[in-house]
Amino acid sequence: MKTQFSPESLADPDMRSSESAIRKCVHCGFCTATCPTYVLLGDELDSPRGRIYLIKEMLEKDQNPTADVVKHIDRCLSCLSCITTCPSDVNYMHLVDHARAYIADRYQRPLKDRFIRWMLARLLPYPHRFRMALHLARLAKPLAPLLAKAGLRPVAAMLRLAPTTSPPQPSKQNGEVSYPNGRVLLLRGCAEPVLRPEFQSAAVRLLNRLGYEVIFAQGEGCCGALVHHMGRKQDALMSARNNVDVWSREVARGDIAAIIVTTSGCGTTIKDYGFMLRDDPAYVDRAARISALAKDVSEFVERVGLPAHERRGLTVAYHAACSLQHGQKVTSAPATLLTNAGYVVRTPTESHLCCGSAGVYNILQPEIADQLGDRKVAAIEQLRPDVIATGNIGCAMQIGQRTNIPVVHTIELLDWATGGPLPSTLRHLQHKMPA
Ligand code: SF4
Ligand code: SF4
Repeated sequence: MKTQFSPESLADPDMRSSESAIRKCVHCGFCTATCPTYVLLGDELDSPRGRIYLIKEMLEKDQNPTADVVKHIDRCLSCLSCITTCPSDVNYMHLVDHARAYIADRYQRPLKDRFIRWMLARLLPYPHRFRMALHLARLAKPLAPLLAKAGLRPVAAMLRLAPTTSPPQPSKQNGEVSYPNGRVLLLRGCAEPVLRPEFQSAAVRLLNRLGYEVIFAQGEGCCGALVHHMGRKQDALMSARNNVDVWSREVARGDIAAIIVTTSGCGTTIKDYGFMLRDDPAYVDRAARISALAKDVSEFVERVGLPAHERRGLTVAYHAACSLQHGQKVTSAPATLLTNAGYVVRTPTESHLCCGSAGVYNILQPEIADQLGDRKVAAIEQLRPDVIATGNIGCAMQIGQRTNIPVVHTIELLDWATGGPLPSTLRHLQHKMPA
C-alpha cells in the first residue's frame, strides 16, 4: 500500500513500524475470510484490510481518532488470525497495538467506558485485588441480568465470569529433591492463578517429573498484556520492564532453561518484549533475551519429550487459543502431545476462529464475544468429546461458561497421563478410564 507519512512523523519509532506494516499490505483481502469480526458482521471496516485503511488514514494525516474509527478498532479481537493468513507478512499485531495506544492518547471515551477500562486496568493485573473483586462479584452475580438491561453489559459480562466457588489455593511444589535438568521460571501471572490455580499446579508437577526445578520469581507481576490491549502503553511497558529486571536476575544466576508460560495470551506478549522495549537502551538486549527464553508450556514439553505415560483413552476436543496458534505459531505441539499420551484428539471446525475471549474483549465487547463463544461451543459439542483442552485461561473461561463439558488445560491431561492426579473437573469420568 502506498504511504505518504511525513519525515517528521517517521522520526517516531512506532510510526516507522506502522508505516512499514502498512506498506507491505497489497490489498489482496485474503485476510477478510479468516477474520472473525468480518465473518460475523460482513463490514469491510471490520476486516483487517479495512482496519489497515482506517489506521493508515488516521496515522498518516495525524488525525484525531473519530468515534467511527475507534468503534472498528475496538471491535478487533487482536486474535491475529489475519497474520496467519496474510501472504505479505503484514505485522498487524504491532500495527493495531500502535493504533490502540494512539487512540488512548488522543480520544476521549464516554465516561462509562473510561470507568470500565480504568477499573479493569486497576483490578485484573493484580491477583489480590482481582481475588477480592471476584468474591464481591460472586455475591453480585444474580444482578448480572439487571445490569445488562440497564445498559451496563460490560459489567454484567464481568460478573458472569466470576466463578461460582472460591478458587483453591495453588499447590506447593512436590517433594522431589533431585532436578537433574536445571531450573525453569514459571510465570505466575495474574488472572490464571486466581481463576484456575490447578493449571499451574499441574505444570509444576509435570516439569518436576521432567527433571526441572520450578521457580516463581520474587517481584514478578502481570505480563502487561491486558493493559497493552487497551492501549495503555506506559502501563504495559512498566510491567515489561519489571519482569525483565526480575527474570534477568534469575537468569544471571545460571541454569535457567526457559521461562515457561501456561497462559498463551501472556506468552505472546512476553515473546514481544524485545520489540516493545527496542528503543530503551537499558532494556533492549535483556528484553530480547527474555523473549527468546519464553516458551509456552506445551512447546517446552514437546521439545524435552514427554515422560513415560499411561494410555488414557478419553476423547479430547482441542481448542487452539488464537494467541498460541496465531500469536506464537505453536500449532501442533498440544495435539501431538495429547495424542502421544493416549488421548483421542479431535479438532473442531473453524478452529482458526477466536472463541471471543481475547483478553478483556468479552467484557468490553460482550455482544460480539457472545456470538463467537456460542459458535465455538456449538462446533466443539458436535465432536461429542469427554473433555475440552486448551492452553489459555481466557478461552477456558469463555468456553466453560457455555457448556457442561469440562474444560481443562492441556497440561492437566499430560500431567495426569504421566503420573499426576486426575483433574478434579474430570472425576465424574472415572468410570470411563481403563483399569
Ligand atoms: S486480529 Fe483478528 S479480529 Fe482483528 S483484524 Fe485480525 S483477524 Fe480480524
Ligand atoms: S492478507 Fe495481508 S496483504 Fe492481503 S489485505 Fe490482508 S493484510 Fe493486506
